This record gives sequence, structure tokens and C-alpha cells, in this order.
Amino acid sequence: MAGHTGHRKSSRIAVFTTRFAPSPTGQLHLGHAYSALLAYDMAQAARGRFLLRIEDTDTARCTPAFEAQIYDDLAWLGLAWETPVLRQSNNTAAYDAAITHLGDLGLLYPCSCTRSDIRSAASAPQEGAPMHGPDGLIYPGTCRNRSWEDRKDSDAVRLNIARALDQLTTLPAYTETGIHPALRLTRAHFIEGVGDVVLARRDTKTAAYHLSVVVDDAAQGITHVIRGEDLATATPIHVLLQALLGCETPIYRHHRLIRDEGGKRLAKRDDARAIALYRREGASPQDIRRMVGL
Ligand code: GLU
Repeated sequence: MAGHTGHRKSSRIAVFTTRFAPSPTGQLHLGHAYSALLAYDMAQAARGRFLLRIEDTDTARCTPAFEAQIYDDLAWLGLAWETPVLRQSNNTAAYDAAITHLGDLGLLYPCSCTRSDIRSAASAPQEGAPMHGPDGLIYPGTCRNRSWEDRKDSDAVRLNIARALDQLTTLPAYTETGIHPALRLTRAHFIEGVGDVVLARRDTKTAAYHLSVVVDDAAQGITHVIRGEDLATATPIHVLLQALLGCETPIYRHHRLIRDEGGKRLAKRDDARAIALYRREGASPQDIRRMVGL
């Protein structure tokens, strides 16, 4: 299925290529600065490539102003990246092709469950204790037997994970060089700890994060994914999708998160730690590096 992603499996040693992939849904804060600087420094040390990717598939929450601020803050921090920058909103044909491919393999089904439908189905007495995966509650499978042809007007498209695993001759695996050992990817982990995740929303029109990140990492030839440990539980689904789509699996490095004094990880709404604010207050890029422990 290499043609769909534009990235073929090859035995050539690829040049170290990493990326920073923010979503323009808020201001960059110290946690983003750490992630971007760490990836940039590693690319420099390896004489490799550093790419920037704008993950703006969620058009309701992304704004041009936040996107412009991302370029400005990163340049101020001293980062340089290759152009043109890949913006996911310009790349929907590639996600559609991947969805069509997985749908043709019989691995997808349409789903119209609301959050509250999922909550009540998952907490039904016969289901046992509700299990959580990378996207919250493990989907209880209410729509699993719906046909792919029935997808028009559905709210979401889900991956039938059991069927996806049946497609593969071996379970996928990956290398982790960050703070966690790689998760052991057993069938039970996929079924109970990942579940039937959403790959597209709104009648397949919008790729969900798991799909777009895998398609783009492959198309951009990313050899090293460097990102926060909050995304470590999503990695199994990414590695599985890479196997299904015939893409290489990069090396993963999940790094520590920058936390506030109370130990809570920073969120987009933590404007008090926005890079833009530190800049206005006269901080230098070196100050930011020091604050995040680089
Ligand atoms: N766009 C994601 C975020 O802002 C990061 C995706 C990734 O690094 O894989 O959290």
C-alpha cells in the first residue's frame, strides 16, 4: 500500500529525520518549547533533518493567528526548519486514500455512538470494569457489525482492531529510546488496552489524529518521533497502522513533560507559561532553554 503514503519500505540507512508537530489551537508553552528544542538539538547532533508540521485537521479549534504565532515563537527560539511546511489541512487526499485502503481491506466500520452511548454501553454489568485506552473508554463495539457501505452520514469511522490484527502475520513492534521501555504489543494489549479507535470523523471527511500522524510521518520519511510521554499510549495504534499501511516504523522517543509547581502538566490554556508571554517580559531564548532544563 506504499503508493498511498508515498513512502516505501527500504533497506537503505535513512538520514535522521525528525519533526515537531503542533496543533494551532492555542499558544505554544514551555512544554512545546522543550519538545521542539529537544527534537531540533537531536537533529543537529545527528546532522539530520528537522521538519515542522502543522496539525490543523480540527478546523473548529485551529486558527491562523495561532499558526502564525507558532512560526514566530519557534524562529525566536532559534529553530530553523525545511519549507514548505506540511499543513494537514492541505493533505486530506492522502488521508482519504489511507481510509479507502483500510476500508477496502474490510477493517473499518461506521459508528454513530455518542460519548454517552459509549459510557453507558461500557458500564453495562456484563462488560466488567470499564477499560481505558489512548482515547478514553475502550469502545464497547456497539456498531462493530455495521457494514462499511453504510458509512454515509455516520459520525465516525472506527478500526476493527481484532480484524486488523488478523491481517498481520506477526504482531508489530517498535523501539523506544525515551523514558519508558517500549510497550509490549500483545494481542490482548491491543484488544483490551487500545480497542476500536476512531480513524476519521464526520462521514470520513476529517482524518483523526492517529491516521494523519501515521500517514504524514511516513510521507515525510520521519525516522525518529520525539514527543511527550502523554502520547506514549497512542504509539501502539500508530505502529499497528504503519504495519497495515505498509509504512516503516520510526524510532520513538517519549520525553518527560514540563509540569507546573503543583506537578500538573502544562496545557494550552496555561497562558501564564506561554512563550509569547515570556518574550514580552524580556526573557531570552537561553532563559527558555534553562527553564525547561536544556
Ligand atoms: N499534534 C500533536 C500535539 O500537538 C502532536 C503529535 C505528535 O507529536 O505525534 O499534541
